[in-house]
Formats: sequence, C-alpha cells, structure tokens
Amino acid sequence: MSSTLTPLPSGPSAAAWDSLRHLVSGRLVTPADADFQDVRTPWMVNVDQQPAAVLEVAHAGDVVEAVRFAAAHGTSVSAQPSGHAPRTTLDGTLLLRTRALQGIEVDPVRGTVTVGAGVKWGELCAALDGTGLMALAGSNSDPTVVGLILGGGVSWFTRAHGFTANSVVSLDVVDPSGELVHVTRASDPDLFWALRGGGGDFGIVVRLELALFRAPEMYGGQLLWPVEHAPVVLKAFRDLALVAPRELTMWAHVLHFPPIPDIPEPLRGRSFVNVAATYLGSRQMAEILLWSLRDAAPVEMDLMQVITPSGLDAVAAEPTEPMPGLEHSMLLTGLDDEAIDALCHAVTDPRTCPLMFVQIRGLGGAFADDGTAGGAVRPVAEPFQVFAFGVPAVPELAEAIAHAFSAVDGTLGHLASRHRMPNFIGEGQDDATGYDAERLARLQAIKRERDPKGVIRSNKPVLGA
Ligand SMILES: Cc1cc2nc3c(=O)[nH]c(=O)nc-3n(C[C@H](O)[C@H](O)[C@H](O)COP(=O)(O)OP(=O)(O)OC[C@H]3O[C@@H](n4cnc5c(N)ncnc54)[C@H](O)[C@@H]3O)c2cc1C
Repeated sequence: MSSTLTPLPSGPSAAAWDSLRHLVSGRLVTPADADFQDVRTPWMVNVDQQPAAVLEVAHAGDVVEAVRFAAAHGTSVSAQPSGHAPRTTLDGTLLLRTRALQGIEVDPVRGTVTVGAGVKWGELCAALDGTGLMALAGSNSDPTVVGLILGGGVSWFTRAHGFTANSVVSLDVVDPSGELVHVTRASDPDLFWALRGGGGDFGIVVRLELALFRAPEMYGGQLLWPVEHAPVVLKAFRDLALVAPRELTMWAHVLHFPPIPDIPEPLRGRSFVNVAATYLGSRQMAEILLWSLRDAAPVEMDLMQVITPSGLDAVAAEPTEPMPGLEHSMLLTGLDDEAIDALCHAVTDPRTCPLMFVQIRGLGGAFADDGTAGGAVRPVAEPFQVFAFGVPAVPELAEAIAHAFSAVDGTLGHLASRHRMPNFIGEGQDDATGYDAERLARLQAIKRERDPKGVIRSNKPVLGA
C-alpha cells in the first residue's frame, strides 16, 4: 500500500507532554519514566514498537484529550489495548492503552450487548453465560472485542452467522478532530462501513454495541492423535469440512509442544495432529457428524464436551499470556491430497520444524455470504485458511521460523489466493491483501477525506506504512 498522507513533523516537546499530563486522568508514560520499557511492550513481546509516549486512559474523556493533543501537535495517536497485533507502524505515536474502558451491558429486549473498548472476549463470554445468548467470539479469550472486530473478526460461529464485524449495531468513536460521535448505519454510512473490518485507522473506538444470537446447546473441544497420523487425519478433516453444516466449525492443527514445565505432562515435548471443533447443537448430532474423524485413526485424547460461551477458550486452548510470536497466513482455493502430504512432510517432524503450530481453518458457509449489508470485511469464498505460528523464544529462532513459513508456502502456495484475512496477516506479508481492490480504494478514500493529516494511526494503515 503506498502512502499519500502528509508527513508528520518531529514529536511533541517535553513541555507539550506535560500539558497533556495535566489534562488527563489516566497515566501518561514517556521515555523519561523508569517503567516506559515495560509499558510500551505489547502482548507479542518480540515486536520492538517505539511509541513516543503511552497513555493509560482512564475514561473516554482522556481519549478525546489525546486525539485533540495529537491533532494540535502534528503527531498521531493509536489504540493498543493489549498488543496481540503490534507493529512498528506504531512507532512515534501516542499509544493509548484502553483496557480501563470497561462496561458490559446486555439488553435482552434489543438482543444486543454494549461493551467498552477495553473488554476482552473472555470477559464478554463469561458475562453471557446463563443468558441464553452468545456473541460471535473468536478462538482466544485475551484479545479485545473491539480489536478483533476492527480487523473483521473471525469467530467460531462465522460459518453460521457471518463475520463478527458485521454484527456491530453502533459505535462510539472519537474522530480525528477529537469529537466523540455515535456512529450507526443511518448516521454515517461510510464511517459505519469502514469501522466494520477496515482496521483502526478511522477513529478511536470507546464503546460498541453488538447483536447477540440465541445460544443453543453447544458442543466442542479437541480430538488429538499422535502426529504420525497427520496425513490421514487432515484428509478426513478436509473431506468433512467441505460438506459440514454451517453449525459445525473445525480447525485442524499440527502441534509441537515444547518440553517445558508449563505444558501439562501428556502433551509436554510431544507432537500431535488435532481437530478443534464447535457445534451449535446437540452432542448426539455432533458425534454423528464427527464420526469420520474418529474413524480416520485411533484417537489418543478426546476432549470433546458440552460447552458454554465462557468455555470457548478451552476449545483451541491457545496461549493467553504475553509471549513472543511470529505469524503467517494464506487463504487456500482448495486442498488436495498431494498438498496435504507435502505439508505433513514439511511440518510434522519437530526436529526440523520450529513452528508451534500450523492451523488449517475450515471456512465456507456464511464466510462467503454476499457482503452488501456488511462492512469493509471482504466475503471469503476460499474454503480454507492456513495460519502458521512460531515462538522466537530466543531471537536467533526468528530466522528458522521464517524458513518454516517459506516451507509452508512452498507446499501450499500454488493453492493460495491473492487475499488474506486482515486479522491473520503476519508482519512481512502485504496488509493490502486483506481487501479486494474496490474495498481498499473505498477505505483509502474515506481515510484521505476524514483524516488527511493522519492523526489516527492503525497498526495496519490502509494507506500503507
Ligand atoms: C493467539 C491469537 C488468537 C487469535 N484468534 C483470532 C480469532 O479467532 N479471530 C480473529 O478474527 N482474530 C484472531 N486473532 C487476531 C486478533 O483478533 C487481532 O490481532 C486483534 O487485532 C487483536 O486485538 P487486540 O485488541 O488484542 O490487539 P491490539 O494489538 O491491542 O490492537 C490491534 C489493533 O486494533 C486497533 N484497535 C484496537 N483497539 C482500538 C480502539 N479502541 N480504537 C481504534 N483502534 C483500535 C489498533 O489499530 C490496534 O493496533 C488472534 C490473535 C492471536 C495472537
């Protein structure tokens, strides 16, 4: 993506930062503070982002002051609640930590929930337990509701109900001039469209309202096999994913667990192939659907159970504590036996594969539904996404992980489409691939019109870094 924003002059003076400090209730941390190194560090701790200062906002009024300050001093402002998707594109910004923007209000009559920008998915799912309602949650409890939605939002239930971004009803946003505005489809169709999947470039969200869905009986968990069964399990997974009803979502993984005490004994130091699945319906029906997987090879661990919204985190059992991470993704137009065999050859041996996991998400269903009423998130017709994740526990591992990403590309690249889903684009992959040309052009036009000086800065700027 090429940049056409007016370049920003060098950052505010110490006196200017002091003036902001007096205007806000939250804590402003600058490089002069002893804990600046800690405060600037994102969840993905290996990303060496260098913001000019960090403001731990106390309430929406602090966001208003921060944006007005950035506009007045020719600098830019970004929100980063926790930093699951940090980028060095945030260097030089005033970084807003929005975790204190709490509040979860369920409105059973409207069938919606209003959440503050600091609310994490785990907190929202826990609040929904027992209400008979559910939101379109992703795989991990730790990212914020707002952070996931701005990138489109891939849920366990996207196959049934669409992208999470398209379930947004309204948003409260501080715009690039520092005004707090309530945005709906009727009030500002362009901004409402852009905020639903176009990233963090268009304003700082302080609150949003989401549509809820009736929560039926839910069944989910994992089946695990020793990794040598990967070819046969992945082929059975592929066959079932292509015909599964929208209520069944399945993600297969090749997993390498390191031999460290944090990993429980049956998994520690071992490699597996697994299928993590959720089913919106009864255990009996789910088990009938999953029969071909169980039949593919003897299951070593069966973690399938009846679940509630707050139990979703355990389905994929992804890490929630801050850690180093490198990501790489592609969307596949198909997945044939030869490609599965080649992938298994490349990633199943832990002596040669440094990745923590390679995941294949079965897409389909409402992923591909026509997006005319939806936001900037691109409907996805590709049937599979591959997402590879490596942990550079020591910096030297980064090179080996990059080689492993290349190996995955080598085995599957001929089946990859030109697009990716924005929330899964790794550093070093082209952010523009998150959109089709028409959507990207519309996002860029809205950005140029609403924020010509680049006061608001996304981690994945639509106009490029
Ligand atoms: C382990 C793991 C699992 C994941 N699983 C899924 C999944 O199942 N589905 C899915 O869709 N994604 C998934 N993701 C991707 C994740 O949703 C995105 O990285 C998301 O951006 C994380 O949001 P965050 O608030 O935690 O991250 P942050 O890095 O804190 O924020 C990301 C960006 O969002 C924007 N932003 C955040 N808050 C605001 C705000 N209040 N106002 C304006 N802009 C804001 C900013 O541009 C910011 O840089 C996963 C990521 C990880 C690391």
